[in-house]
Amino acid sequence: MAWNFAAGPALVAPNVLARLQDALVDWRGSGQSILATPFTGAAYADLQHQAESDVRALLGLGDDWRVLLLQGGATAHFALTALNLTRPGDDRPADFVITGHWSRRAAAEAAKVVRVHVAAQGDGRSIPPVGAWRLNERAAYRHLVSNETADGVQFQSFAGLPGGAPWVADMGSDLFTRPLNMGPLDAAPHDAAPFSLIYAGAQKNLGLAGLTVVLIRDDLLGRGRADIPAPFDYTAQVKANGRLNTPPVFAVLAAALSLRALREQGGLAAAAQRNAAKAATLYRAIEASGGYYHCPVAAGCRSTVNVRFRLPDETAEQRWLAAAERAGLLNLKGHPAAGGVRATLCNAMPREGADALAAFMADWVRRWG
Ligand SMILES: *Cc1c(COP(=O)(O)O)cnc(C)c1O
Repeated sequence: MAWNFAAGPALVAPNVLARLQDALVDWRGSGQSILATPFTGAAYADLQHQAESDVRALLGLGDDWRVLLLQGGATAHFALTALNLTRPGDDRPADFVITGHWSRRAAAEAAKVVRVHVAAQGDGRSIPPVGAWRLNERAAYRHLVSNETADGVQFQSFAGLPGGAPWVADMGSDLFTRPLNMGPLDAAPHDAAPFSLIYAGAQKNLGLAGLTVVLIRDDLLGRGRADIPAPFDYTAQVKANGRLNTPPVFAVLAAALSLRALREQGGLAAAAQRNAAKAATLYRAIEASGGYYHCPVAAGCRSTVNVRFRLPDETAEQRWLAAAERAGLLNLKGHPAAGGVRATLCNAMPREGADALAAFMADWVRRWG
């Protein structure tokens, strides 16, 4: 039995894979492949509608939200969000909260379009306290990354995010792993506030690469510039019901199947519990190693999706990674920007995968620690 801890594209659940396999040859008993299903027809419209309404139900989005199933990946939407929220000549800055690799990449891309103001600069191990952020009163929008996939740093709550400008979030690696508003202080678990725009690639927790989920509040529509290529103009896509051009139909089907499975398994509160339990198993294995393994991330912002740790030195890390691979624990090498070991516990990773890794970690310390 092998367990695949790849960060992205990440694991797809076996039952989703089996349904995709069937749909390649015969989708919904039509005798036709999903790959040759016209996106202008009723069958695709129905699939898209089902996916969108499951997104709404899982996240508790109100009627003022639009759900777009686009292409480009989060990396394209770093600049596309800026193009859709500002116009040429607009001298207002965009506030960026830098907490690691992906927020740095997001800020660098957005800087091609808007004046980026770094409101906070983390060290990749912790999140600067909200009170210390230097937010710009005139910001056109504000941007954060909810889970730093490379660094293993994750916001535990969004309670207390200051208002005043629309918040945009790259939730590339943790959208659909937990309810949107999980702060203990929040009375309303189904409120997407404080965010106005959220985007995430589907290849982490919702199936396949090629699909980017963009959630946008109505009041942000119509703020973009006129020269955005139409497929990436959020307002134009909303007007065209998300079918302005050919959507990635196969990836939309994978997302629809993954969303339905999430609902059947108790929704996002249940998913959050499962993910927290998997992560706790690994953080416990780190703590139990008597200092052999070391998690560089501060206790209050350790990710439940990407668990990062180091061994005493790089030689030991390389031997460990090779031995893990031989033991069927795959793709544990850390992101090049961060080094060390990274275990990705996306939605599709079962509890048994985390348990197998924790057992391997303990066994290694008994032998070599
Ligand atoms: C994976 C990831 C990205 C990049 O996604 P692409 O689809 O490769 O563009 C951006 N942000 C976060 C947080 C990610 O995890």
